[in-house]
Amino acid sequence: MLEAVKVALDPTPAQERGLMSHAGAARFAFNAGLAHVRETIEAKGKPEWSLYALRRWWNANKDALAVDVDGMPWWRENSKESYNSGLEALSDALSNWSKSRRGLRKGRRVGFPRFRSKDRTPPRFAYTTGSFGLVGDDPKALKLPRIGRVHCMENVAKRVGGARVLRMTVSRHAGRWYASLTVERPDVRPIRPPRGEAVGIDLGVRTLATLSDGTVIPNPHALRAGERRLKRAQKSLSRKTKGSHRRHDARERVARLHARVADRRRDLLHRLTTMLASTYSDISIEDLNVAGMVKNHRLAKAVMDVSFAELRRQLEYKTVRTGARLHVIDRWYPSSKRCSNCGRVKAKLSLGERIYHCEACGLTIDRDLNAAVNIQVAGSAPETLNAHGGTGRRNDASRRATQDPVKCEPSNGDSRVRLGADARKGVLQARTN
Ligand SMILES: [Zn+2]
Repeated sequence: MLEAVKVALDPTPAQERGLMSHAGAARFAFNAGLAHVRETIEAKGKPEWSLYALRRWWNANKDALAVDVDGMPWWRENSKESYNSGLEALSDALSNWSKSRRGLRKGRRVGFPRFRSKDRTPPRFAYTTGSFGLVGDDPKALKLPRIGRVHCMENVAKRVGGARVLRMTVSRHAGRWYASLTVERPDVRPIRPPRGEAVGIDLGVRTLATLSDGTVIPNPHALRAGERRLKRAQKSLSRKTKGSHRRHDARERVARLHARVADRRRDLLHRLTTMLASTYSDISIEDLNVAGMVKNHRLAKAVMDVSFAELRRQLEYKTVRTGARLHVIDRWYPSSKRCSNCGRVKAKLSLGERIYHCEACGLTIDRDLNAAVNIQVAGSAPETLNAHGGTGRRNDASRRATQDPVKCEPSNGDSRVRLGADARKGVLQARTN
């Protein structure tokens, strides 16, 4: 099984310049290769866009392409791996476009690749060959050829745990550099699922999640405060003049706040999904129409959509590890409007109604709890079983360090808040009247 171990890097200023240079090299190779392919197509030729062909073309032309104003080649300043990762991305983009055009690719139509601009493309490059990865005598460092030994924010050797490292992708996000290592671990499937019973989960805006057994996982104050700050920063950004320095600063601020809120939420979800996957034998969640997810300006809704996708992604791989069964129910199932006691479905239920009251049987129950119970019941139907079929592995997963569905959760230090069995009793707030 392939897993991604992602750690934050702590580079020196000189190393940071090196990282930026390598990411720029990847972008340069991508753009140069794309220009070459476009020229070939315009000259009615048949372009070759396999990684092998692009690499051969790059090596034959790099002395003429990667030169400064005096004609001095500069490509030697960066590892060849950086150019290679740019060409690899181009090769993938072209093949995705071609397959999509011929109807051989699922999902939304993929367009012809566009040139990558410095402002809009997140800096990124990867190492796939050579002596990159862990450092023998320092568990909190990574070796990046041509850049050096870069200190990490956590014990990366412990996270990798002796597994073989196949690939290392380095990227920058919201002002911070990360390394994502693709590691290969032996498949270990547990024989029996956890001892707990079945559970349904309702994700909410007001609370993080409500479980069908009455457990309520509240939205922590820090998360709400972060979301409020983000909202204010976004408002402030929208008032800045386009192209101004202040707009640029405001944009950076929004990006940083976004990243912090997302990190906090992801961390919480990790604790929740680890608890769920190791406690319950059967876990039911609602399906989410990811493709139909539209960009909207309602922050709470947008954040919830992301949480939903993330919750499912984490549960998919964690249940494989613990042996719990994951059930995904139809998203058109009326989990909120249906009475969990008698099954009557209400014609209308406004978002403001926090308490569900059934006219037919007289049940009065917390709205989210009612939905969670319905999700659990719907999930026990046999046809919903094992939404995640297989191991979650893609054919070309080894080349997709950062997009692989099988990811490892961030290691939890001592600050970890346990959401285990004992803590669950503490937050038990079954508001059934
Ligand atoms: Zn009822």
